[in-house]
Amino acid sequence: MALVLCSLYAIGCSASAQESNAMARGLSLHYVLRVDTTDLSGYDIELHINNAPHTLRLAMATHHEYDDKYWKHLEHFSIKTSTGKGSFVKEDSALWRISIPEHDAVISYRLHLPNQTSPQRACHRPFLTATGGLVGDLHSFMYMVGQTDIPCYVTFQMPGDWKIATGLKATSDPKVYSASSAKVLMDCPVLIGKLHTWGFTVSGIPHRVAYWAAQNALAFDTSLLVDNIKKISEQEVSLFGAIPYDNYTFLLQDNAFGALEHLNSVTLGTPSAMLASHMNYFCEEIAHEFSHTWNLMRIKPAEYTELNYGPQERASGLWFSEGLAMFYADLLVRRAGLETEDTTRTAHLEHIIKRYYADTGNTFIPTAKVSLTSNVLPGELGDYNASVHVQGELIGAMLDLIIRNATNNKRSIDDVMKAMFKRFGGDKGFYTKDIEGVVKEVCDCDVHPFFQAYVYNGHAINFNEYLKLAGMQMQLSWTVAKDDKGNVAPDFRIYKWTSPADSSSRIFITTPNGCWGRAGLHTTDILVAFNGKPVERSSSFGSLLRDVHIGDTVFIMVKRDDGTKTIPVVITSYMEPVVKIKPLDKVNEQQQSVFDSWIKGLN
Ligand SMILES: [Zn+2]
Repeated sequence: MALVLCSLYAIGCSASAQESNAMARGLSLHYVLRVDTTDLSGYDIELHINNAPHTLRLAMATHHEYDDKYWKHLEHFSIKTSTGKGSFVKEDSALWRISIPEHDAVISYRLHLPNQTSPQRACHRPFLTATGGLVGDLHSFMYMVGQTDIPCYVTFQMPGDWKIATGLKATSDPKVYSASSAKVLMDCPVLIGKLHTWGFTVSGIPHRVAYWAAQNALAFDTSLLVDNIKKISEQEVSLFGAIPYDNYTFLLQDNAFGALEHLNSVTLGTPSAMLASHMNYFCEEIAHEFSHTWNLMRIKPAEYTELNYGPQERASGLWFSEGLAMFYADLLVRRAGLETEDTTRTAHLEHIIKRYYADTGNTFIPTAKVSLTSNVLPGELGDYNASVHVQGELIGAMLDLIIRNATNNKRSIDDVMKAMFKRFGGDKGFYTKDIEGVVKEVCDCDVHPFFQAYVYNGHAINFNEYLKLAGMQMQLSWTVAKDDKGNVAPDFRIYKWTSPADSSSRIFITTPNGCWGRAGLHTTDILVAFNGKPVERSSSFGSLLRDVHIGDTVFIMVKRDDGTKTIPVVITSYMEPVVKIKPLDKVNEQQQSVFDSWIKGLN
């Protein structure tokens, strides 16, 4: 892929001259996205280019966190010009070089939707049904390399009774939307179909909620859903102090899981059955994703470029983007007066610290390193697992206590978020040293040793040193892990993943000290057979281990560079952490004051 980067760089160097020439010529880009409900295997896209140079490059962009490589699913790529003389060469996986003798052309292709391999659909990936679907963004559209500042238009051709919900800008024609740049177009998913839609305003800015319901969807309290989202939105706006968009759309989907943030929209998998039975289940997820509108989409890691078609870019400050979004997922739902997963802030902290210790990797792999390996394939942390969400949330929580203590409760981590948004809410990206600088300014105290220990080096967080600032202490003990029914649980901490390079099924373990690691298995081993039977691609370890119990021996055949071997694994139990947070025996006035404001979640 080095060649890809070189060519990107070369094009980037000449981009400004090229762009000004293009602007002078009146380059225009108009996309047409056509859905035909008699064939739901995909949808067709045309790109009408006018006043273009004779040679241009089109690329499919790489997402910073979820690189789904939809360039694999493009078919029937063709070029039409008035003389019929256009041609193209595929220069790399996601890059097409187009030659046209005139200045106008129509590029056409079809996006063939890949088969769904899991029971539920990831909500950020395109889909189509007879009643609607998700289209658009970088999964669908190509951008013109070196011409990313050109505004573009999209016409949606689809059944007449379908609605459109998107962050793209509406025009006077209800089927035509615009984007101010390629970056905006690549960032805007489009929910289409027989949608239910609602709206509310926050500080005068319109927010829309759209829901695509599958057939036989269960009824749920729609006004409660919209009210919950509004309350969360108000808290987010209050936290960051300003609204960086002129409209926002929540794209909610039945039969889907997960969520993905965008500049002025978010996709959320919200199955109607869950909304009917556990509406509050989604509150923290909505709060997390919506806070990314500021913290990640605008306060963004410096390593992230605007548009890139090469490998995914790694960000050393991802712990801040994800960890603080986790921290505020709990806190803002509390501030909104909605039900949280953990009853109190203390219970929530116990829960997250337990998760921290449950994966040993969290306690000794620097969070800056975990950030860099966060969105890549398993194996870069050896046989350990670690999470930027967990590490980052706890670093944020401890910094909050440090700031509250140092400023007599006049300031908190909220002030860090506001200052980060003011300083890095524009084009300038941040590095971890910038966060350290902002925290230092907010608390007027020396946090360098803290960042050195826990962010740059992999010291285990000394929770009691910071909890005592609020008159609290933590006790850690270990117990045999139990299942939901209270029975001793077998160590099933082994997972399977598919290598995109060779489609092989590979192993992922979370610690070398569990029964799998002790037996000699390693993350990235190719899984060949389980108990003598070849392992099918679709089967999970959950299904392979269904009838396996503590004391059983299973035989795992793996393939490595030095050959194939069968490894016997004796299934054992395993230990899990127990975390209890209690008040200190003696608490002074300062500690009590920090605790009182912290426990209420005050800013
Ligand atoms: Zn996130």
